[in-house]
Amino acid sequence: MTTSLCIGPRCGGQEGPREADTGRLICAGCTSRLRRDIGITPTLQRWLGHHLAPGAGAGPKVSGSRDAPVPVRIDVIDHQARIGDVLKSWVWLIAEHRGLTYPAVTTVDEVAPWLERHVDWATTRPWIDDMCAELDELRRVAHRLAPWRVHVVELDGPCPSCDLRALIRTSGETYIECDVRVGGCSALWTDDEYLAKVTSMVEVESQ
Ligand SMILES: [Zn+2]
Ligand SMILES: [Zn+2]
Repeated sequence: MTTSLCIGPRCGGQEGPREADTGRLICAGCTSRLRRDIGITPTLQRWLGHHLAPGAGAGPKVSGSRDAPVPVRIDVIDHQARIGDVLKSWVWLIAEHRGLTYPAVTTVDEVAPWLERHVDWATTRPWIDDMCAELDELRRVAHRLAPWRVHVVELDGPCPSCDLRALIRTSGETYIECDVRVGGCSALWTDDEYLAKVTSMVEVESQ
C-alpha cells in the first residue's frame, strides 16, 4: 500500500510534510489546524470589532469628518468583510460540489459551524490545501491587525513530535501548537490531546 504525503501548507515545517491520513489528502495535524482556523473565525470577528478605533494598532486610518465623527480603521473593517467573504466562498463551493442546497447562513457565527461539519469531506478534495491556506491567512492577518501576539504564551516543555522547544498557546484558543516560525514542526493538539500525549510519554519513560 502506498502512502502519500500531506499537501497541507507548511506541513511539518523544516522536517517536511507528514503522511496524509488514510483516505485524506492531509494529515491529522493539518486537519486539526483547519478545524481550529475555522472555529476561531467568530472570535476573530468579535476581536476585530473591538479594535475598530484607531490607536488600537498600526495601520491606515480614516479621519472623522462632520458626517462621520467616529474615526475607524478601514483595514480592520476590510478584514472583517474578508473573513465573511472567504468563509461564504467555501460554503458555496462545498454546497455546489456536494449537491447541497446553498444554506441560509449569513453571519460568520452561522457559517463557521456549517463549514466545520464538512471538514472531513473537504480533506479528501484536491483543493484542501487552498482552503487550509486561506483559513490560516484569515487568522494570521487578524492577529497582525489587532495585536494578539502579546497574548501568545510559550510553553516550557519540548514538542512531543519533534522535541524542539517551540510550543505556544494563543490565549482564547484551546490549542497548543509547535511554532513553525521558530523551526517547529507545526503539530497541533487540543489541550486534552496534548495532556494525553504527555501523560503517555511520561508513562513510557517510567516503565
Ligand atoms: Zn499535514
Ligand atoms: Zn514540533
